[in-house]
Amino acid sequence: MDLALPVGCASCGHPGARVCGPCRTALWGWCYPGGPRAVLPDPCPPGLPPVVATAVNDGVVRRVLHAYKDEGRRDLRDTLLELLVPALALAAGAVRPAPREGVVVVPVPTSPAARRRRGDRPLEQLVAAAAEAVPGAAYRSVLSVGGRAADQALLGQEARAVNLQGVMRVAAGGGEAMSGRPVLLVDDLLTTGATLLEAARALRAEGVVVAGAVVVAATRRNPPRDALGIVRRVR
Ligand SMILES: [Zn+2]
Repeated sequence: MDLALPVGCASCGHPGARVCGPCRTALWGWCYPGGPRAVLPDPCPPGLPPVVATAVNDGVVRRVLHAYKDEGRRDLRDTLLELLVPALALAAGAVRPAPREGVVVVPVPTSPAARRRRGDRPLEQLVAAAAEAVPGAAYRSVLSVGGRAADQALLGQEARAVNLQGVMRVAAGGGEAMSGRPVLLVDDLLTTGATLLEAARALRAEGVVVAGAVVVAATRRNPPRDALGIVRRVR
């Protein structure tokens, strides 16, 4: 396998492990102390469901996410699962009233442009594996993005919100596939909240209850909140 796959630390390039020892330590250093927690974009777009994140999108976390999605390093999925699964489990356990049949986990869809660039759907693969690891969570990929949306990665923050308005759709029968169960949306990153908001809008238009959202990492402009909703500055 060493001959067939790019090997070496996804963050520093050191040959050998997917993520070397020192970079693993640094990776945990970018995670919120005490585990995943609620984060809030600033400004927060009205209608955004509550969001749980595990880490700040910086340093090793940012490099690992980028390498996984855009450099073909699909071998990093297990590393990212270590960050995503606890956040998803926390969010699933916090849904009130607690759904007897569990929650439905819906990945934020990849734009056709990003899919062409990547050749596959790394986010969907990550979210499906995370849902499998959380008891009671059922994975349903029911959202798609219309052709006119540009690749979000290529846009500035204000252009992202405009680019996404009204472009997501629920697949035919997708709303019924939830059978009334609450949905948790999952994306890799929280930046402005525009992507999660558009995904929530599309689901709500089909009568789906969006209980919350989960991301691996949030940009620094999305400070974590404590249980009282008070914004705290970390780092
Ligand atoms: Zn390294």
